[in-house]
This record gives sequence, C-alpha cells and structure tokens, in this order.
Amino acid sequence: MSNGSTPPTSRRPARALLAVPAVLAALCCAGCGALGNGDGDGAASPARPGPERPAAAGSHTPGQPAGQGEHDGKQSHGDKSDGDRSNGDKGDRDKGDEGRRGGSLRGKVVLIDPGHNPGNRDHTAEIARQVDVGNARKECDTTGTSTNAGYAEASFTLDVARRTRALLQKEGVKVVFTQDGDRPYGPCVDERAEIGNKAHADAALSIHADGAGAGNRGFHVIRPGVVHSGGADTRKITGPSRDLADHLVGRFVAATGSAPANYIGAGKGLDTRTDLGGLNLSRVPKVFLECGNMRDAQDAARLTDPAWRQKAAVGITEGITGFLRS
Ligand SMILES: [Zn+2]
Repeated sequence: MSNGSTPPTSRRPARALLAVPAVLAALCCAGCGALGNGDGDGAASPARPGPERPAAAGSHTPGQPAGQGEHDGKQSHGDKSDGDRSNGDKGDRDKGDEGRRGGSLRGKVVLIDPGHNPGNRDHTAEIARQVDVGNARKECDTTGTSTNAGYAEASFTLDVARRTRALLQKEGVKVVFTQDGDRPYGPCVDERAEIGNKAHADAALSIHADGAGAGNRGFHVIRPGVVHSGGADTRKITGPSRDLADHLVGRFVAATGSAPANYIGAGKGLDTRTDLGGLNLSRVPKVFLECGNMRDAQDAARLTDPAWRQKAAVGITEGITGFLRS
C-alpha cells in the first residue's frame, strides 16, 4: 500500500510532484495498489493523487523526539485509550505491570491485520464498495500489489502475520487477526479497525508491502495523524502509536538488516497519514508497516524469502513486545 509517490528528497510538499503524472504512474501503485488502487487500507493510488494524502494534521516533524507533541510519550499506552475501555481492563493493566518488568505478557492483546486478502482479486465488486473512514469515503479494501514475478502482497502479509502470531503467543500475548485466509475477501478497512477496537487491543499492526517504483527500497512505518471527523477520532492514539512505531523501526532494522525506506520518511522509516481508514477509525494504538517494496528487485528478493520473512516476524514481535513493556 501506501503511496510510493514521494521522492527521496522530500516529504509531504512533494505532493507537488503529483504534477508529474509519469512519476506518479511509475511509483504510486501504492503498495497495495498495483492490482487494485491504493493501499489495502485504501491508501494512495495513482488514480487519486492529491486527495490521497492530505496534509497530515499532527504529522510528525522529522527530528522531533518521539514522545513530544500531542502526547507525553512517557505515559503508558494503556492509559491513552482508557476512555475507550471497559471496566474489565484494569486487570489487563495490572498484568501489564508484570510485563513491564520483563516477564510474561499474558493478558496483553495484540491485533494483527494481514493487509488485503488473497481472495480480493476475485471479488473486485465487493471490495470496491465505499465505506466511511471518518474524513472521507473509500474503497472497502484493495487487492494489494505483488512482485513482478507475481508473489502477491496478500500472501506475503498473511505469511508474516502467522509467523508473528506464533512468536507473540510464545510471549504470552493473545493475538487477534482481522482475517486468516478464512474468508473469501476483505474485511473492509473500517471492520479491520473495529476488530482491534472490540478486542481492546494493547497494540495493533497492519502488515503490508509497498508497490512503489524500482529503486525505491526499504521499509517504513505509518502512524496515524490527528483526525477528528465523523466517526474518526485519533487524538488519543497518536502518542502511543508513535511510541509503537519507534519500537518497530528500531527492532525491524536490527532483525532484518533492512534499511528505512529511501523514498519516504526522510530516511527515518516513519510516515504519518490521515487518509487510511484502518488508522483513522482505530481507538487503540495502531500503525501500518510497509515491510519493503515488492516492485524493487532487491527488496523482492527479501520479501519472497521465507527466512527473511521469519526475520521480519522477529523484528515485528520484538518491536511490539518492547512497546508493551515500555
Ligand atoms: Zn498493502
């Protein structure tokens, strides 16, 4: 998913580049967009340039220390979503104290969202249905991208998600999936967010791989910007999601040897967006991870390697558990 349209040298204003259709067409399949449009979360698509990535209110300023901004990063992520939690959550926080001491993470809940669905390609009409993402209406879901050789992003995301689940469960974490290859298509992006909300997840991660142009390499994490519109209100999750993103970037680099993207995020492996339904509608700390660019030969060699995918799962697991214990 994601919009691969941003050139290496600049961030958001580079939407100016959107004036160059050829560049867009080359880069923007948006991960997830090659076979459909936009990202699995309805992220950017070549067909919808400008509005795809509106100026992200609350967007992270490169160089700004994590934890500053709309939230004090020192507070526990659990506290941030208290308003959305039921009374039964106190027990979870108590167990979280145990987790912070480095022990079991039993009682913690993690939502893993394997981006797209291998069956989406056979249900294009169903996934084209428009859903409300708070500040816009977008496609229910997209097909996702693929490598030039045809390895589908939806297969990649499911594989990495399952590897991650196995590792998280060893830590005592309860893992909830949005889909496990067990439904014909979807779910829609709004439902993907709602599943994490209903699970009262302590952390949520949507796994993707990008579909930018060749030469664009590396991974990046997408955090929610501030959206308070319609059914979306991310104000309580931007801070903890930033913390989650920081943990993921650090551990993903260490575990996989991959570098932060060279085409987005100013080399920090971080982006902030306000156009993704899966983030806009989340009430729990959530980020997207673009593990690499499927359309680049070097990245594709990694993404198609089961051994690398296991490393990715290790990095993801360490990032999430580091966040849960912080
Ligand atoms: Zn995707």
